[in-house]
Amino acid sequence: MGILSKAFVETVSYMPESVVWRFARRYIAGTEICDGLKVRSDLYSRGMLNTMDILGEDIEDLEQINIINRLYCELVSEMHSSQIPGNISIKLTQFGLRADPVNLFSRVRELTEYAGEHGIFLRIDMEDATTTSTTLDLYNVLRQDGHKVGAVLQAYLKRSQEDVIELSKNAPSNIRICKGIYKESPDIAFQNPDDIRDNFINILGLLFDMNSYPAIATHDPILIKRSLEEIKQRRLSPEQYEFQMLHGVGFNLRKMLLDEGHPLRIYIPFGKAWRAYSLRRFRENPKLAFYVLKNIVSIG
Ligand SMILES: Cc1cc2nc3c(=O)[nH]c(=O)nc-3n(C[C@H](O)[C@H](O)[C@H](O)COP(=O)(O)OP(=O)(O)OC[C@H]3O[C@@H](n4cnc5c(N)ncnc54)[C@H](O)[C@@H]3O)c2cc1C
Repeated sequence: MGILSKAFVETVSYMPESVVWRFARRYIAGTEICDGLKVRSDLYSRGMLNTMDILGEDIEDLEQINIINRLYCELVSEMHSSQIPGNISIKLTQFGLRADPVNLFSRVRELTEYAGEHGIFLRIDMEDATTTSTTLDLYNVLRQDGHKVGAVLQAYLKRSQEDVIELSKNAPSNIRICKGIYKESPDIAFQNPDDIRDNFINILGLLFDMNSYPAIATHDPILIKRSLEEIKQRRLSPEQYEFQMLHGVGFNLRKMLLDEGHPLRIYIPFGKAWRAYSLRRFRENPKLAFYVLKNIVSIG
């Protein structure tokens, strides 16, 4: 990120909540469960699948962990009653990976069971590289216990190809592939965008080779094109993969995929912890921070 862009992002992070919200609301369904459900029902009526995410990460306070746990259960019940199919995505640091590792597994297993009883698939998002092994271990244990769960692999991590092989060797896995959003060291992560893209496509190919189910999570037109070529060459049917995008991003690409009949799932974040999520989005895409500033100038 250039120095100027960095400065803009820093400025945005000091702005009043109401101003940041004006811009963030494009990417966040709202603060309450009903807000998330409304967006999901709208997307469903336009042919898109969904995965629901309650915002929050690195929660340190046990009471907050319990609150998130209860909110996810409430969300699962509401999703079930609405009769619209959908998934949930969780982050292990919301469930005590750092704050209460002893009880992490039982919490996640209970939620997975509860979701499963309500016909809802649970995917564990991938966080920074210090959490990768624990996350994949937990995913494996849940799978071995017969739960329908998914994991995420990040194409920037050099270990990811080995992880695919390990995860898929005994039974097909269900893996979302994304580039990866955290800052990781060159020792463990590719830094060059083309290397990350190549690794992404290699991981996708391995998943197909091993009869596993990939969720192709990207808004990068080059990667989408290369993934579509892979799908075409292998003559795959739409039941064998899906594309995923974030709420509020990639509208033209969405349309192209839907028009061509590819399954597309939208990741719908909502919740009270929206500010930290938005600032991360701004850091990832400094262009957004410029727009916020432009908005403010026009407000003033
Ligand atoms: C459904 C989904 C789930 C994800 N889950 C995880 C996860 O579990 N762990 C993890 O580390 N990362 C996750 N990510 C984030 C991912 O790793 C990337 O950081 C992010 O998707 C940007 O990469 P890209 O492939 O879209 O390519 P980029 O080249 O970064 O983006 C392509 C274009 O898309 C637009 N764009 C991309 N991202 C955004 C954004 N956030 N806001 C606005 N515009 C944007 C920009 O215009 C950009 O030029 C997820 C992404 C998606 C789509």
